[in-house]
Amino acid sequence: MPVPVSQMWTVSSYVLRQKLAGRKQYPLVLMLEPLFRCNLACAGCGKIQYPAHILKKDLSPEECFRAVDECGAPMVSIPGGEPLMHPQIGEIIEGLVARKKYIYLCTNALLLKEKIHLFKPSKYLTFSVHLDGQREEHDLAVCREGGYDIAVDAVKEALRRGFRVTTNTTLFDGANPKSVRAFFDEMMDLGVEGMMLSPGYSYDKAPDQKHFLGRARTRRMFRAILSNRKKNWQFNLSPLFLEFLMGKRTYPCTPWGMPTYNVFGWQKPCYLLQDGYAETFAELLATTEWSNYGTESGNPACANCMVHSGYEASAVNATFSSLGGFLATVKATLFTRYRDEEALRLLDEPQAPVNPLVQIAPPLRRESLQETRV
Ligand code: SF4
Repeated sequence: MPVPVSQMWTVSSYVLRQKLAGRKQYPLVLMLEPLFRCNLACAGCGKIQYPAHILKKDLSPEECFRAVDECGAPMVSIPGGEPLMHPQIGEIIEGLVARKKYIYLCTNALLLKEKIHLFKPSKYLTFSVHLDGQREEHDLAVCREGGYDIAVDAVKEALRRGFRVTTNTTLFDGANPKSVRAFFDEMMDLGVEGMMLSPGYSYDKAPDQKHFLGRARTRRMFRAILSNRKKNWQFNLSPLFLEFLMGKRTYPCTPWGMPTYNVFGWQKPCYLLQDGYAETFAELLATTEWSNYGTESGNPACANCMVHSGYEASAVNATFSSLGGFLATVKATLFTRYRDEEALRLLDEPQAPVNPLVQIAPPLRRESLQETRV
């Protein structure tokens, strides 16, 4: 079971309450970024290119609690930056556990063994460890030799101490589907609770702009990776979101489903774009021009986006919007291995050679980000 029953119950009953109340826009996961500093400089990251005075800033625990209370989402994901570099991260987590929020602390795990004494195992707290594939692929993606071994060592220690641990993987163009599947085996053998996956997003600020996936390539890659699944693979994601990645479903983006709060305030419209900030969550909902975003909007910044923070809330909403959605979710969870001969053939396709990701190149213009159809 990838997610504890108590968490499933909390999330399901929350979504049903929103539905019964007739709320069309409701948050599912708060993306709380308490800082942008990081101890890595991954080529595909758009978060650490801020000037030094911004990178020095931290949200205080009180600011974090106010955002969490205001938002009301049952789950809080803490990315960054590297949250373990926040001087009061222990206090922040303690306050969120006291509020009975299900927390995913997203970490590259370089500091996890050193800081693990700050936390107590709890059903509310999960370390979501950033691992972008097998040893060579991960070290290349995070531009740090030895990063994989440190992270795996920290995962073992966290599991030994009784913490919930998941992995969190971003896949870029050139990812080798066979290697990704072997990585799933490695993670399941390690004993993690489940795995999270997302295609990368082409941040204007990311140093590497060559390896982001277009939509058609994303679907093809995830079809190869996620078809003909092994029985023991557990994913900590909506099964309908996985079907969306495989090209079996289409959803509109629901950026309000995973709103972002950081040192600038409530970010419009989503975790990835920065079209202004609001002071309160209510203001974010009321003043964002939501129709300007999502693939159907024609906004070039959204053309190739299929990321988790935009579309997983859409998939969860679909589960609770109709009997068909609910039954599809049950079927996908319990019975579907996605047997697919063509996907097996895709696994044997030669891979485009992947250059080391660390190629610092000038960012592409947004206008060039049109949906890739081939
Ligand atoms: S499509 Fe992607 S970039 Fe556009 S609003 Fe949704 S999550 Fe943000």
